[in-house]
Amino acid sequence: MYDFERDKIIEASNEIISSSMTVGSWGNISMRTDDGNIVITPSGKNYKKLKKEDLVVTDINGNVISGKFKPSSERLMHYEIYKKRNDVNAIVHTHASYSSILSVINEDLPVITEDVAMILGHVKVAKYAITGSMDLALNVASALDNSNAAIMANHGAVAVGSDMERAYTAAQVLEKSCKIFVFSKIIGKLNVIPEDDVKRLYEISEAYLSQWKQWD
Ligand code: 13P
Ligand code: ZN
Repeated sequence: MYDFERDKIIEASNEIISSSMTVGSWGNISMRTDDGNIVITPSGKNYKKLKKEDLVVTDINGNVISGKFKPSSERLMHYEIYKKRNDVNAIVHTHASYSSILSVINEDLPVITEDVAMILGHVKVAKYAITGSMDLALNVASALDNSNAAIMANHGAVAVGSDMERAYTAAQVLEKSCKIFVFSKIIGKLNVIPEDDVKRLYEISEAYLSQWKQWD
């Protein structure tokens, strides 16, 4: 059951490891199914060895429906995001390096490039709370009010999308942009995209992304 979601999660798990967006078993990935359940990575399992059947299915309140392992310890964050954002069907949480730098210095990511405007919006740092807690879940969900990504203070990053392609691309754009942000601050003065253009770029993003479906 939920073969489509399982394939997408395994694909994204392979990507976050091969692109070094996370190491070992940290980070977690989930998808919301058409009937409102959540397919999520198991807690503390090495992504390199993760198989479709290792994924856990729960309802949005955390009741396990199927799976032989414990679901991700960050599942409350996934549930709170899905509860708050009806448009979100996929979530990718990483411990990517440059996103983590912003998480440690506690700086929001300004809209510095076109792809940030189109796929992320204004990215905020969610207030620190310990991993796995409801406080962290609520802080992250509220940082995602107007954006498809958030930085988690002293922790990592989370990216969301209406499907896995968008959530995973949001995670990639976030990490790439945090890298640009860090180096730009080191070598020069940071310029941001004018706010009117940020709005316009967001408006045209759906048209721009509409051909993605044709990759499947
Ligand atoms: P899990 O392995 O339990 O998903 O937790 C990893 C993590 O990144 C917690 O924030
Ligand atoms: Zn984490």
